[in-house]
Amino acid sequence: MEQVKLTLSWRIGLPQWETDTEFEKLLALLREHRSVVDEVALFETITHHFYIPLETYAPRMELAAKRLDAFRRAGIRSAGINVLCTIGHLNEAWSYMPPLPAQAIVGHDGSVSTGCVCPNTPEMRTYVRAKYELVARARPDFIWVDDDIRMHHHGVTWGCFCPTCLALFAQRSGRAYTREELVKAFDVPDQGRVRELWVEQNIASIESLMAECREAIRRVDPRIGIGLMTAGAEWTTYSGQAFDRWFAALGATKARPGGGFYDDATPIGMFGKALSCGRQRALLPPSVRDVQYELENFPYQRLKKSATAVVDECSLALAYGLNGVAFNMLGMTADCEDSLPWVRAIPVARPAWERWVTNAAGLPVVGLWPAWSSRLMARRAVRPGESWLGWAPPHHNIGVPNVLGEIGLPLAAEQSGCGVVLCGRIAEIYSDDELKGMLAGGVLMDTTALEVLAERGLGHLTGVRLAQRLDNGLRERFSNDALNGRAANEVRDARIEFWGDAKGMGDVLEPIAGGVRVLTTIEDYFSKPRGPGMTAFENELGGRVVVMGYAPWMFLQSVRKRLQLQNVADWISRDAMPVRVEEPVRLVPVARMSADRKRGAVMLLNAGMDPVTEATVHLRMEAGPVRVQAIGRRGSHLPAAPEAGGIRITLRDMEPWGIRMVFVGGAEGRS
Ligand SMILES: [Zn+2]
Repeated sequence: MEQVKLTLSWRIGLPQWETDTEFEKLLALLREHRSVVDEVALFETITHHFYIPLETYAPRMELAAKRLDAFRRAGIRSAGINVLCTIGHLNEAWSYMPPLPAQAIVGHDGSVSTGCVCPNTPEMRTYVRAKYELVARARPDFIWVDDDIRMHHHGVTWGCFCPTCLALFAQRSGRAYTREELVKAFDVPDQGRVRELWVEQNIASIESLMAECREAIRRVDPRIGIGLMTAGAEWTTYSGQAFDRWFAALGATKARPGGGFYDDATPIGMFGKALSCGRQRALLPPSVRDVQYELENFPYQRLKKSATAVVDECSLALAYGLNGVAFNMLGMTADCEDSLPWVRAIPVARPAWERWVTNAAGLPVVGLWPAWSSRLMARRAVRPGESWLGWAPPHHNIGVPNVLGEIGLPLAAEQSGCGVVLCGRIAEIYSDDELKGMLAGGVLMDTTALEVLAERGLGHLTGVRLAQRLDNGLRERFSNDALNGRAANEVRDARIEFWGDAKGMGDVLEPIAGGVRVLTTIEDYFSKPRGPGMTAFENELGGRVVVMGYAPWMFLQSVRKRLQLQNVADWISRDAMPVRVEEPVRLVPVARMSADRKRGAVMLLNAGMDPVTEATVHLRMEAGPVRVQAIGRRGSHLPAAPEAGGIRITLRDMEPWGIRMVFVGGAEGRS
């Protein structure tokens, strides 16, 4: 197996390298932390504005060449340039930056960006070619293309509806639309082809821009490594997220998945970001081997985020299959006073991270798969009265089932043989055959997904239909079905009216086949039953389907709801779920396991403010030597007791927001 290396990379702000004084201070800082500096990347501008005149840019790149040489003399193995703006990120400093030299991005509503340009005009391409050639002439080991490579959120929400783009779309679709006509067509239910073609145009616009960047770089030096920074599908899939095509067009072998986790006010947000980065990693072509997590502390104020959070979020990202970290935390001056506590935490974490990356290499992430696709926006249905470009349609939010991970059910970024979670209207984007394939395995779904399946004529595979939609004064009572175990007769009350529209929160189900098991009954506040609220059914394809009609995605944190959902996950996956923590503690697991379950690496985060004094962890894998590793400590051997379906270990004294890595089998387990 090819050795997979951990890469720790540092992104350096322009003010930190532009003057000799600042640069000397920066070098001193990097030398002091040499053990965690594998790579550095120079930001080449300070604003997120597209345009810097080339006569300003050329001497800056000459200086960059000198700085890169200085890094190499300091023993840093890889030094490159991070091109912050290719299209421009947003409207910033527009009132005094030079005016845009090419067509600005035009929004669907006719608004015009003041900082970002359309990627399709010849003027833009000429400038971008010249700019990337100048970057390549600075002899960088690599060039990062930053994550302004998207067609959304460039100061205007949805781009680009400029005359050039509308003309391109006329060619693509065979019909000329004005901007207004096109936006109107997007909202017509049967105009799915127009929506799909528009997303295809977004993909193709970026693809050809990436090819242009690649050619400009390659013309100067074909050996320069190229990387592309990406954003998550949770934000939107408007741009199409065709990483296979974009990375190929750019010739990129480096990736930096990213997303927003800027502060630790809501620390569990780090889990959502790590999972998002895992999803982005899942889209990468296999030729991309260097996958660096975006550690993002912008705009670099110390009290926004603790060093513990920094280490935890990087650890979780490595758990989800990334093998490096690109730190954006050094701020804007080389004194770095705000950043020092974060920087100093990294050497402490490095040995554990190395161990994780080495031992988890090649092991897939295993767990329930909340279904999603980069084609979500392209393929989703638009119903009468809906707006395709309306902001954040709640039923198309792929992050909603993340709560299952937060209560301890291991989640995967791609299908892993443990069952699928169908949330909201995401099921719309799959073909009947794809849905049948899912329903032949394990599926956990809500009633909105049930409606989609019923419309497709697949409702019988769930064993139930949506009988009645209630929206006030309801709770659910657990039955004495074996899947509820000691949670039988539990009452779960989500107070559904308190959180806005309660539609979909009190959906009564009706069995339409024999053998449907009722797991909960919806009742009113005087214990009067209204009908089944959660059901389990084994269908004719051999699939096991659980439908949740009562408050499916909120307030799942009770001890007994968690127990029920653990049992349900084990049942739908036929005991393939890789890890289960017995005690009701806030341990968030991410599991990597070989297909034969002989080798595994499981990371557990204590996502709570209390220590976990004892946790019984069931690992569904073959018995083998077990080692446990914490950040900043020596690893130790751990006894494992064989049990039905796997082994059992006990973790003790996990500090709040502490991490444990558990290695089973393989070289690390034995060592
Ligand atoms: Zn345009």
